[in-house]
Amino acid sequence: MKIVRIESYVAEQKVDTPFSFSQFEFQTRQVCLVKAVAEDGSYGWGEGYGPATVVRAGVDFLAPLVCGEDPLHVEAIWNKMRLRALDYARRGVLVAAISAIDIALWDLRGKLLGQPVSVLLGGRRRERVKVYATGLYFTAADDLVGKLVEEAKGYAAQGFRAIKMKVGLDVATDVKHARAVRQAIGADVELMVDANHGYSLSEALSFARRIEELDISFFEEPVSPEDYQGYRELRERATIPIAGGECEYLLEGFRQLLSGRCVDIAQPDICAAGGLSEVKRIVALARAHHVNVIPHSWGTGIAFAAGLHLVSALDVLPGRMRMPEPLLEMDRSENPLRDNLTAPVFQVEDGKVDVPSAPGLGVDVDPDMLAELTVSD
Ligand code: CA
Repeated sequence: MKIVRIESYVAEQKVDTPFSFSQFEFQTRQVCLVKAVAEDGSYGWGEGYGPATVVRAGVDFLAPLVCGEDPLHVEAIWNKMRLRALDYARRGVLVAAISAIDIALWDLRGKLLGQPVSVLLGGRRRERVKVYATGLYFTAADDLVGKLVEEAKGYAAQGFRAIKMKVGLDVATDVKHARAVRQAIGADVELMVDANHGYSLSEALSFARRIEELDISFFEEPVSPEDYQGYRELRERATIPIAGGECEYLLEGFRQLLSGRCVDIAQPDICAAGGLSEVKRIVALARAHHVNVIPHSWGTGIAFAAGLHLVSALDVLPGRMRMPEPLLEMDRSENPLRDNLTAPVFQVEDGKVDVPSAPGLGVDVDPDMLAELTVSD
């Protein structure tokens, strides 16, 4: 069996209510999707994280290397793509292009073998995965605190047992928001904060101390992803677990983060850090450093399904009789692409989502919707 075609698409849709995090505002959602087609017509879907048009250019650059190869040999193809990119992009968005193609090949391989991706990753340790709601972004609402409180209560009412909120505006405002949200959801729902590297080290430390009493499960991306020393110092001085890695790429990037003892929780994005082939290796490296992985996930159902399969097969540390449960990020911010383009639309029940059992990723793309949402060249 040979791969005959790698198709790339950029889909885009406006959001009704623009929202922002500590760095910039979103008015649209955009994604680069990849379809790997085999000679018998079977196909797999992949997705890249990052600026979609740039990811697509990377996919188109790499596609000729992949066509003609056997889709069962996914990691051999990965190596070929990686070697071709190495001279120009040791990190960054060309790695997201590799990731998108790699995910499509895992999906295709699963379909050809008649097995879900989680089985190919080593086996399903769990049929349902605990998810946390990512939301609580900043908007232009007159009463932002009131809006955050209502939104947080909504997630708890939907059954989420863990919620992550945005911080990184300024320490005083962020403390006020975090207190209001904790009070609204009560003590039984986990709460996490994400600064998207909006703080200096001293601000991050001050914030961590001021929210210590709020029982925060982790503090994500406190400082610049380039500031490994800052991560390490914060981790040594703060009591809240430190998470990071969504801006990190490949095994080599995570080696720096992990060997530097920068994080308690590593957060590779499967659609950016190197695809399922590489994140599988990142998980092994994290394990050797006694660090758990909670994948970053911010895209359509393809990205989310890849995360479900990975977490289904994930080993959690430390091993014990009452095993801790792994987590997966479930973005709840407005994303019409996630809701309209891919099926199934994943449902949360008791804070968990079923891992698809169909061969491959168990997700498909609506071709009519794709045609409608694709940005023309
Ligand atoms: Ca984040």
